Amino acid sequence: MALIKKICLIGVPGVGKTSLVRRFVHSIFSDRYLTTVGVCIEKKQLRLAAGELSLVIWDLAGDDDMQRLHGSYLRGTAGYLLVADGTRLESLGQLADLQRRVAAAVGPAVPFSVALNKSDLTEQWQVSEADQRELEVARGWPCVRTSAKSGDGVEDLFASLAGRLFGS
Ligand code: GDP
Ligand code: MG
Repeated sequence: MALIKKICLIGVPGVGKTSLVRRFVHSIFSDRYLTTVGVCIEKKQLRLAAGELSLVIWDLAGDDDMQRLHGSYLRGTAGYLLVADGTRLESLGQLADLQRRVAAAVGPAVPFSVALNKSDLTEQWQVSEADQRELEVARGWPCVRTSAKSGDGVEDLFASLAGRLFGS
């Protein structure tokens, strides 16, 4: 029997949460801006060194203004992915506030990883090595540069969180 764990995608609109889930679960990417309403729940089986894991991935669809960061969306989550858009530095600045709010709701011990997404857009990239180190070293937040478009880093991102869900 696989262990079943719920994880949530967290981040301001447009950073690529839905695209990362679609890339990870379905190996596809679309340039269309997705505007379905509600919550999208995807499942994916992972085989890790520690055993089988069935990830249940929750993603706020459409109007994900993070006002709904309460109640059933976060309830029972075993971990979460904080997503920022590496081409919009302000989306990185917004992570600290989001993380505080999520940690207040689910507890400080619930593990998370940070995605610095859209790494394929090298010309517009705004997150310096120093910015990333500040998150990793000063805050102790595991960060992965990802591109939902090319797929770069996407497996690593989910694996970095999944590995910490055993025993939680
Ligand atoms: P969400 O609101 O956080 O769920 O963001 P979406 O997944 O809907 O993506 C918002 C927009 O950014 C869409 O137009 C996507 O096609 C685009 N996008 C998402 N991830 C990437 C990426 O890694 N690279 C590029 N170039 N565009 C991306
Ligand atoms: Mg979305």
